[in-house]
Amino acid sequence: MSAEKFEFKTEVNQLLELVIHSLYSHREIFLRELISNASDALDKLRFESLKNKDLLGTDTDLRIKLFRDDKAGTLTITDNGIGMTREALINNLGTIAHSGTKDFVEKLKKAKDGPELIGQFGVGFYSAFMAADKVTVNSKTADGTACSWISAGQGNFELGESAKTTRGTEIILQLKKESREYLDEYTLRDLIKKYSDYVEYPIYMDIEREEVSKDADGKPIEKAKPEKKIIEEKLNSQKALWTRNKSEISAEEYNDFYKHIAHSYDKPLEIIHYSAEGVSEFRALLYIPEQAPFDLFTKESSLGLNLYIKRVFIMHDCKKLIPEYLRFLKGVADSNDLPLNVSREILQEDTQLEKIKKNITKKVLSTLKTLKEKDFEKYLKFYKEFGAVLKEGLHYDYENKEAIAELLLFPTSNTDKYRSLDNYVTDMPKDQKDIYYLSAETRGQALASPHLGALKAKNYEVLFLHDVIDEFVIPQLFEYKGKKLLPINSADLDLGDKKDTEHKTKEAAEKFGSLLNSLKTALSAQVQDVRFSARLTDSVCGLSADTGAISPQMQKMFKAMGQTVPEQKKILELNPGHPLIAKLSALTPERLSAYGSLLYNQAVLADGGKLDDPLEFIKQLNDLLLKATEA
Ligand code: ADP
Ligand code: MG
Repeated sequence: MSAEKFEFKTEVNQLLELVIHSLYSHREIFLRELISNASDALDKLRFESLKNKDLLGTDTDLRIKLFRDDKAGTLTITDNGIGMTREALINNLGTIAHSGTKDFVEKLKKAKDGPELIGQFGVGFYSAFMAADKVTVNSKTADGTACSWISAGQGNFELGESAKTTRGTEIILQLKKESREYLDEYTLRDLIKKYSDYVEYPIYMDIEREEVSKDADGKPIEKAKPEKKIIEEKLNSQKALWTRNKSEISAEEYNDFYKHIAHSYDKPLEIIHYSAEGVSEFRALLYIPEQAPFDLFTKESSLGLNLYIKRVFIMHDCKKLIPEYLRFLKGVADSNDLPLNVSREILQEDTQLEKIKKNITKKVLSTLKTLKEKDFEKYLKFYKEFGAVLKEGLHYDYENKEAIAELLLFPTSNTDKYRSLDNYVTDMPKDQKDIYYLSAETRGQALASPHLGALKAKNYEVLFLHDVIDEFVIPQLFEYKGKKLLPINSADLDLGDKKDTEHKTKEAAEKFGSLLNSLKTALSAQVQDVRFSARLTDSVCGLSADTGAISPQMQKMFKAMGQTVPEQKKILELNPGHPLIAKLSALTPERLSAYGSLLYNQAVLADGGKLDDPLEFIKQLNDLLLKATEA
């Protein structure tokens, strides 16, 4: 196999350009990135070796080591981890396998705070070119032949043979002139302490020391000439953060660890660190990020926590540890109960995992509750980022429905500030029995609802539901602390004045009976019924639905998911108190038919729906305008 040249993918070139130039002042992070890759490679090996003992062979002492060569000006980072095949080298170090790269490049171009972003999209390895002119990677898998990857970071890389005989990867950095500091013992010590102290594998470095020989009792021999000795020293403490006492851990350590496991460079919004005893014994260190990732609703691959068993890393993103509606969580869980020789298959059905998940779910929900009570501003920040995800739990987690409901916030007809259901219930007027809500895409649309007037008149507040998922999950809540949750556009809504409205409706139906019949005939294709409603106040008409009917937004959502929804006709409600009704009732059935469709279409618009035939609507409206302006 002779050397072969490959071009970098365009996105890699763009990225290299940006990484090298805009992150230059933070170039020291290259070391953290390469060590984190080495640690990942050791994790992978350890996990694979649980199933395949032969992988480890005699090379069982998993480790990372740095080598400095002053003369050559090289810094080498080695690991005896999983290693890379020729294909893996091409795929991992020639392209960017992560989908968010374009996003990243765009953001980095604009951002002054580039370092906050690097790594979030998996550009870790390329940071090596911030410190090095040339990077050589020699790698070997347990049963493969070794390969080398060489690049100056200038558009291409070369693959060739490698003389490496041991398993793992070695990364040789030919340091730039101005980066020679990374050969200095103390600089490296500091960097490892700063960024990689928690790495679970030992990170060694050869240190040269002058030592005076000692006698048999260990006392230095006087007059003996100091001798140069090479000692291998461990640079990191390796102490898993989650096993330590909270009081001993600084905010900085917590944040650094977050960056490490979340592959993110923002700060966590909240940290949950605890140990559980009783039915299940485990420790967990959980983070709620400050910002939702751009793919929170599209991707599920990064859902989960890192699972450890008695300090031994088992797997990344263990999906069995948290419910999907808490997928914003990052962190680790370390179990004392699970057997160490687990396989992925066992993990599929382990009841211990289920217990941990239950415990973590309760803990997270109670932490959020406390946060909401103690620091509402912070909670609101969380809610705006992750509230829509949390709500999925109303559907999926029956057991914790009430606890999730307590965490909900909504803007209302009274305020665009967010209020909880408890706030709402506390402020209810004495005669109000139920909780009312209205789904609408925007606040403007909600405020335009014809149904709002009747509740306003009674001084009843209405929750505004703006998330698409609301309409799906809020009805499933049925009630909150004994109070029913009701949509205000339901046809049989009772505001406690049923007798009175029924009487008025009946009266109107008698008075304008022929109008009602003509409209029913004219609109029979569009609506299931035309009725009078004493609840409409300002609007001439509105649409209402049978309880449980699917709204226009939901229909859109179902259609987008490729599901067919049965057509559900609504009810056109007319306001008998509106002056237009008396006027309309005096018209001939032919004229009424044209106006009927205008009435229906305006009700559709006020309902947040789309017109079936906008052209027809515009034509009718313009005909009307023409008549009005002629007069
Ligand atoms: P990330 O670590 O986020 O995946 P990187 O750019 O840091 O992104 O690394 C790219 C990929 O290269 C890794 O996912 C891994 O597959 C591979 N890789 C990098 N360093 C090593 C290593 N020391 N041993 C094995 N594979 C490695
Ligand atoms: Mg990496």
